[in-house]
Amino acid sequence: MPIYEYECQDCGRRFEELARMGEEKAPACPKCRSTKTRKLLSACSVSPGKAGTRSTPSCTPGGGFS
Ligand SMILES: [Zn+2]
Repeated sequence: MPIYEYECQDCGRRFEELARMGEEKAPACPKCRSTKTRKLLSACSVSPGKAGTRSTPSCTPGGGFS
C-alpha cells in the first residue's frame, strides 16, 4: 500500500498518509487541522489547489519542492 507524504501549507508540517483507493482528497494536517495540505511526490510537484479539488501532478526535473 503506497504511502504519500503531505505538507501543510499553513504550518509547514510534513506527514505521511496511507493512500486510499479512489480517494484524492487531501488529508487534514494532524497539527493544526488545516486542510491546506499538498501531496509531495518524489521528483514531482503538485500544483497547489484548494482542498477537496483535484490537482494535476506535474513532474519537474530535479524535484519540485524543497
Ligand atoms: Zn498544519
